[in-house]
Amino acid sequence: MIRRLLFVHAHPDDEASKGAATAAMYVDQGAEVTLVTCTGGEAGDVLNPKAAAVDRAAMAAVRSRELAAAVAAIGFTRTYELGYVDSGYHEDPADIPAGAFGRTPLDEPSRTLAGILRRERPQVVVTYPEDGGYPHPDHIMNHAVTIRAMELAADPAVDLSDVSDGERPSWRVPKVYASSIFPSERVLTLHEAMLEYGLESPYVKWLERRDEHPDDAVDDAPDARIPCADWFPRRDAALLAHVSQIDPDGGWFQVPRDLERDRYPYESYVILRSDVEVEPPETDLFAGLDLAALDDFDGRVGSGAW
Ligand SMILES: [Zn+2]
Repeated sequence: MIRRLLFVHAHPDDEASKGAATAAMYVDQGAEVTLVTCTGGEAGDVLNPKAAAVDRAAMAAVRSRELAAAVAAIGFTRTYELGYVDSGYHEDPADIPAGAFGRTPLDEPSRTLAGILRRERPQVVVTYPEDGGYPHPDHIMNHAVTIRAMELAADPAVDLSDVSDGERPSWRVPKVYASSIFPSERVLTLHEAMLEYGLESPYVKWLERRDEHPDDAVDDAPDARIPCADWFPRRDAALLAHVSQIDPDGGWFQVPRDLERDRYPYESYVILRSDVEVEPPETDLFAGLDLAALDDFDGRVGSGAW
């Protein structure tokens, strides 16, 4: 029984900043871990002051090369690049350029992803929260596309033979998570640890915002905390592979690694849907799944609702 995990990400570098250590861990444990990246990240600016300037026209090629290096660091079993055009960051959806991912009719990328789901038959899919996790239009779209794709993949009446490399049975993903990269418990734990060691906390602004808007406080306790600190170096290598995006002396590396490992040795997830009972906090994304039964499952039973 092969465990199959599939991540859906918006841009090159998201696979490094969200769930990279989890992915590397499952790869090392023999699971098949597939990466789907929806856009080319070509609207991104060079965010690392130490990186060379990049012409706008060359950005897609640079980010594709960086993605390949990060994929090698993490060890993904297979990757798919859907090739949609990065929307760029816009607070007002009206500002998203025509033709960009955030303006693409939902079913177009969703069908493509649904075809991949039927090919890969992952028991676990990881996407973003409904609000994107942060309000980049491509991250919000990433969630919507994932949900719609799961609906299409699970519906035996939907013909996806053109996007699934031939006719394949429908597939219902039994467990679906959203990455939660900054749950309150992680921020508070690392903030306190930094202060304890007399270090400057990168989370002061985050805490100020929270104190200013106490009514917005939500219970964001993760449903799954995956202990994957042994794979944090692989995550860091993947982050550093994104030379144009990640400053090695910047925010991503501000918390000393031994401190992080000691105090919050996890990557965290919230459950979006599960066909089996979830007992938080889980320590394994495949917890509760009967993999043998799922392997036999021909995908033709179950409801069409995602
Ligand atoms: Zn992104």
